[in-house]
Amino acid sequence: TKFNVDDLIDDTIASFRFVARDHTIIRSGEKINQLITADRQRLEQVLVNLLSNATKYSPNGKKIIIYTGKRGGQLIISVRDFGIGIPKEEQGKVFERFYRAKKNSILISGFGLGLYICKDIIKRHKGKIWIEGEDKGTSFYVSLPLDKEG
Ligand code: ATP
Ligand code: MG
Repeated sequence: TKFNVDDLIDDTIASFRFVARDHTIIRSGEKINQLITADRQRLEQVLVNLLSNATKYSPNGKKIIIYTGKRGGQLIISVRDFGIGIPKEEQGKVFERFYRAKKNSILISGFGLGLYICKDIIKRHKGKIWIEGEDKGTSFYVSLPLDKEG
């Protein structure tokens, strides 16, 4: 279906605020004001997975910054945290099914499926998902094709 991207982001953040009540969620970037043709529920799931990782893998009280912007007809969303980070050599692997990074796997519970699902959903939407940053936290980026304006 077709929907407004800003509504999706706003709704997702609103419903996540309670879950992430020990973190400070900050919205940054610009309003997109454009439609996207996509599976709204699946994209919401991607955002929830990224937000839930950001809360899980960063200490309470830290910021989580959700940025939205446009770049050449693509929607860019990023979720940034200031937590334990992911070493460069593991950044490719965390999207694999059941992969969990070495330094957290004993302390924090999870299946290692969240990012695998994210990647699968984004791929189906002809988008991309990638990681930036290493030691001062992690930034996950998603890019997705927007509908042509008008
Ligand atoms: P779940 O299936 O419940 O999501 P999970 O969180 O372990 O379990 P993924 O979301 O797929 O699985 O993430 C895979 C691994 O990537 C995590 O175990 C963790 O090591 C690492 N990771 C993911 N997000 C972050 C983050 N924001 N900061 C640091 N490490 C992260
Ligand atoms: Mg996860």
